Parts: sequence; C-alpha cells; structure tokens
Amino acid sequence: MTDSLLTVSGLCKNFGGLAALDDVRMSIRPGTIHGLIGPNGSGKSTFINVVTGVIQPNAGSVSIGGTDVAGRRSNVVNAAGIARTFQNLRLFRAMTVLDNVLIGEHRHLGYGLGSALLMRNGPAERRAKEQAMGLLSDVGLSHRAETIAGSLPYGEQRLLEIARALATKPKLLMLDEPLAGMNPTEMDRVVSILREIVSRGVTILLVEHAVRVVMSVCDHISVLNFGRNIAEGTPREIQGNEDVIVAYLGRRRHAA
Ligand code: ADP
Ligand code: MG
Repeated sequence: MTDSLLTVSGLCKNFGGLAALDDVRMSIRPGTIHGLIGPNGSGKSTFINVVTGVIQPNAGSVSIGGTDVAGRRSNVVNAAGIARTFQNLRLFRAMTVLDNVLIGEHRHLGYGLGSALLMRNGPAERRAKEQAMGLLSDVGLSHRAETIAGSLPYGEQRLLEIARALATKPKLLMLDEPLAGMNPTEMDRVVSILREIVSRGVTILLVEHAVRVVMSVCDHISVLNFGRNIAEGTPREIQGNEDVIVAYLGRRRHAA
C-alpha cells in the first residue's frame, strides 16, 4: 500500500438519483501510466472531477502522496500534486500559447491573473518564461509560442492543455481523453510525449476512448461500468476479461 501515489477508496458521487460513482477504488503506482476506461457515461470524467476537487464527493477517501485531499478544493488538490486536463478544452483562446502556460505557472505560485499579465520583466518572470518555453518544447509547441491559442489546430490545443497542466509541477497528471479528435499520426506523437513525461518522474492517469492506445501505452488499467469498478489489471488481463468485453459489447461473447 505504501507503493501507491494515489489511493482512492469508497468514492461515491450521486447526481440526484444517479450513482455516477459507486464505491470506486483505485491505486496508482508512481512512475506508471495508469489507464481508466469504460463505456460512455461510466463515470470516468466524474472520477477525475471528484478527485481534483472540481465537484464534491458524497463519500470516500482520496490520498495523494500520503496527503488526504477528499472533498478539498481544486487549488488545494493541485498544490498537493495533482494536475488535470479537461475533456472539453479550457484554454484562454484569445491569448498566446506562451501566456496560457505562464498563467498555469502563476496560478501555481499563487498569483492572480492580473499580476501574471503585469509583472512581465523581473528576473522571476524571465525564469517563469524560460520554464514555460521548456514545457512548450516538451510537447513540441516551441514554434507556436506567440500564436493565439484559439487558432491552433485542435490536436495542438490538446498538447497546450498538457503543457499548462505540467506548469504546476504535478506528481500526478490526469488526462481526460487527450487523443479525442486526433488522427493516428497525431496520436502516436502524443503517446511518445506521454512516455517522455513519465520518464521525467510524472505519473499519468489516462482516460481514453482509443483502446488500441490504452492497451499499448498503459502499465495498468482500471475499468468502470455504471460507476463501479468491474476490472483491474495489465492490458493483457483486461483484453481477455469477460466482464470488460460484455461492458463494451453489451453481450456475452458466446452469444455473438
Ligand atoms: P464518462 O466520462 O465515463 O463518459 P461521466 O463521468 O461524464 O462519464 O458521466 C457519468 C454519469 O454521470 C453519466 O450518466 C452522466 O450523464 C452523469 N453526469 C455527469 N456529470 C453530471 C452532472 N454534472 N449532473 C448530472 N449528471 C451528470
Ligand atoms: Mg468523460
């Protein structure tokens, strides 16, 4: 149990009469890419939203690196080491790519948006800018630094979201469908970026529809269905799991 970066147990979230998360548990080992899959509406985004403090759980415990963050606000969760991207992008579309990452850094340092834009020329700002350029380089967007974020191709907007999340120096990065809308070439590029991020010591939770990618890139996979854990294991184990096949296909294999 000590060899777990994120430990979640008994996590519940109800929306009216709907149990979007029903007694969910998860244990993520440091230095891994942990996949979270499940059919549409199975609770994957709700899981990320509850763990990162965007919405409040009805019950359950969440611990990151030994710090209990269940029910804490998202800035507290972020300070404890969890950053995330959103399924629906949340960039500052009218600002440059570089400024989007700088704002991520400033929020991390506790400055407001106004000071992020005003304090541009001190030594701290130069360091912040260097760091932001480094993060853009990590996701292959250096050449886009001065581009207006909203004008980037969709795939690059997703990469920018990842750079902005990394600006808060997380231990754990939670990605909600980072490959959505990408072609296979773009997907391969993101996959190699994810591997690079992990090699630098950041652990990743990957929520993704592209099952081929999840199977090839993840060390371990958790599967949800109707807000409940239905399977847990290596990609190989998950691929052969009857409950998972039923959840995805909606029928037993022998009935096919
Ligand atoms: P997934 O990301 O796996 O597709 P979600 O976590 O988005 O699934 O949704 C899980 C269930 O919770 C769905 O039935 C969805 O309609 C419901 N749900 C999600 N967010 C809300 C909300 N804010 N209000 C009411 N119901 C919600
Ligand atoms: Mg979702």
